[in-house]
Amino acid sequence: MSLKVGRISGVEIRLHYTWFLIFVLVAWSLAYGYLPFEYPGQSNVFYWAIGFVASAVLFLSVLIHEVAHTLVAQRYKIAVNSITLYFLGGVSETAEEAHTPGAELRMAAAGPLMSIVLGVVFLGLWGIGPLIPLGAIAVFQYSSYINFLLAGFNLIPAFPMDGGRVLRAIVWGRRKDVLSSTRTVTSVSTAISFGFIALGFYDLFFFGGLEGLWLVIIGFFINSSAQASMNETRVGQALAGVTIGDIMTKEVFTVEPGYSVQQLRDYAFVARKHHGFPVVSGGELVGIVTEEDVRRVKPERWDEVRVQDVMVPAGKLVTARPGDAALDALIKMSKAKIGRLPVIDEGGKLVGIVTRSDFTGVIERKMSFRK
Ligand SMILES: [Zn+2]
Repeated sequence: MSLKVGRISGVEIRLHYTWFLIFVLVAWSLAYGYLPFEYPGQSNVFYWAIGFVASAVLFLSVLIHEVAHTLVAQRYKIAVNSITLYFLGGVSETAEEAHTPGAELRMAAAGPLMSIVLGVVFLGLWGIGPLIPLGAIAVFQYSSYINFLLAGFNLIPAFPMDGGRVLRAIVWGRRKDVLSSTRTVTSVSTAISFGFIALGFYDLFFFGGLEGLWLVIIGFFINSSAQASMNETRVGQALAGVTIGDIMTKEVFTVEPGYSVQQLRDYAFVARKHHGFPVVSGGELVGIVTEEDVRRVKPERWDEVRVQDVMVPAGKLVTARPGDAALDALIKMSKAKIGRLPVIDEGGKLVGIVTRSDFTGVIERKMSFRK
């Protein structure tokens, strides 16, 4: 649901499709609802042009905010996979969470601090006043306001905002326990989300303002994200230090590339009740064949078509090594939307397989210890 637009510091920048709609919406609301009142007596072309320029500056401001997070994360050797810009802001997708409270504090605070700096810079430019064209003044004024708004919104001490991470880093630094700190901030976030929802409904009922609806939406957004942050931290903690070799199944039932589809059905799918099997030749992984691959073959051809003709070849497969971190492999699987990962050694030999249930097994075991 997003479009790749470029790379900064090795990180992929993506635009979510909803962003295009909002880009036009922001320009439109500025051209009709804001600029004619702030700067009366100008032409429609002026309002629209300034609306689009200001919308573009908003986009750049959000991007710079996210890049600030990224650069600090990279300094702490935390890989950032991508930055996606949504309608209300951006999300930097990191491979893992910060390892220390200090790192988390700096990573989380970098974005809002950058927004404050941008806000001050635009405020200064606006202050030059009469020396510059009216259009530039309008853009500077709006950009200053929007950057302070971005900083303020992101500093709300609730997940998934930066402020929630800042608060967790502070509690974590004192308590030295990331799980209990996350739980505390999740509770704070939930309380804040109810505050937003209550305030929103109050506004809707007594004033009928559109702001009320926004507050309700933000409230529900915080509420659901807080729970997701808690789960993410739990999973990260449970899988810390666990490798694929620790959790993979070593005894794997495999099939050979020369099997006919008929043989594959009889010996594998019907007898074993799995949905897919690694295809192995001389110990080496050459592909994976699933029920879906078989479904594409007409029953009258089951005897002549071979497994090698329908399987997904090894070159196109997502695989793991026994020494890989379990968390990385789990992220890899969910990104590729697959349920199993074949595990191979350096020589391409199949040494095991991991499925989603291997991960949930270890997560449940570790969490029952902590309760
Ligand atoms: Zn941020």
